[in-house]
Amino acid sequence: MQSITVSEVKKAADFFVSEIKNLNVRPLRLMEVCGTHTVAIFKAGIRQMLPVEIELVSGPGCPVCVTPNEYLDTAIAYSRQSDVIITTFGDMLRVPGTETTLLDARAQGGDIRIVYSPLDSLEIAKANPAKKVIFLAVGFETTAPTAAATILTAKQQNLSNFFVLSAHKLVPPALEALLAMPHVKVDGFLLPGHVSAIIGLAPYEILGTQHNIPTVVAGFEPLDILRSVYMLVKQVIEGRAEIENQYSRIVPIDGNKAARQVLEQVYQPCDAVWRGLGKIPGSGLELKSGYNEFDALAHLPVKVGHSQEPRGCRCGEVLSGIVKPTACPLFGTACQPEHPVGACMVSVEGSCAAWYKYGAGRWQM
Ligand code: SF4
Repeated sequence: MQSITVSEVKKAADFFVSEIKNLNVRPLRLMEVCGTHTVAIFKAGIRQMLPVEIELVSGPGCPVCVTPNEYLDTAIAYSRQSDVIITTFGDMLRVPGTETTLLDARAQGGDIRIVYSPLDSLEIAKANPAKKVIFLAVGFETTAPTAAATILTAKQQNLSNFFVLSAHKLVPPALEALLAMPHVKVDGFLLPGHVSAIIGLAPYEILGTQHNIPTVVAGFEPLDILRSVYMLVKQVIEGRAEIENQYSRIVPIDGNKAARQVLEQVYQPCDAVWRGLGKIPGSGLELKSGYNEFDALAHLPVKVGHSQEPRGCRCGEVLSGIVKPTACPLFGTACQPEHPVGACMVSVEGSCAAWYKYGAGRWQM
């Protein structure tokens, strides 16, 4: 593959910025749905390149951030059972639940293990037949197929001590729900490339046809993002509200059929609670009846106290694009990456963490 030089990248970036400026756009709020985009936008300084009329706001595309406290509290309650091993991706450990974190629960004796793939949980289950292994299945359409494949493997291997606590979420229903919220104002969506590589373009069509919102599936390089912003702004100027695919080198129009087949074999859509967005119809995934034996909540009793969000935390409004993280009075004071108050300050993809790491104090926010 032919590489391109730094000066060629700069020239291309200047071109897109100039094209965007030439469109003379009215003030627009464009939402980058995905946390990876938020970080890429900060790293490349894209906000400062764009005309002041274009405001980029972060959306609900960080799976750890949108997982509600009730889920964390349930996982922590399970971890206190002596015959349970919790397996999880590492970024869940520091997310504050109502009273504590999984990290603290581990320090207090809970058997909580970080895995790099859900399949690792099966090995742990085989090595510990007297224990119940519960995998914290958190993530969007990108990671859910791997969890589904793990459940298929567990079934093939007749594993009876492996379970999942499912908090998988689906992006398109959440975007529709956002548009229905009274304080949310969005003129276009930069859609997540990773999720779109699985689901394809069709699930987003409703955003244009029923909500009149332009959308562009965007890649993650700075030039991808600039070009996607240009495509979005051009749609607005031309009065179009379509789904366009800037990231076609990775995202096929119809997504990844094999991954979706695995997903649809094991899971079915269900209503799901998102932190800050509330319960959204059809936005989660639950196990189908043929795989219900792996559902932790259905088979393993657990007592969970009253869950609530941290006092003063504005994660819900941040995840909805209503306010920027700097509008939260706790930002950078009581809440920092070293001692996060809310979930959005924990994950590297969290808006508050990104604003703190790359944005705080550098320009007017
Ligand atoms: S700065 Fe902290 S407390 Fe405020 S919204 Fe973000 S995560 Fe929540």
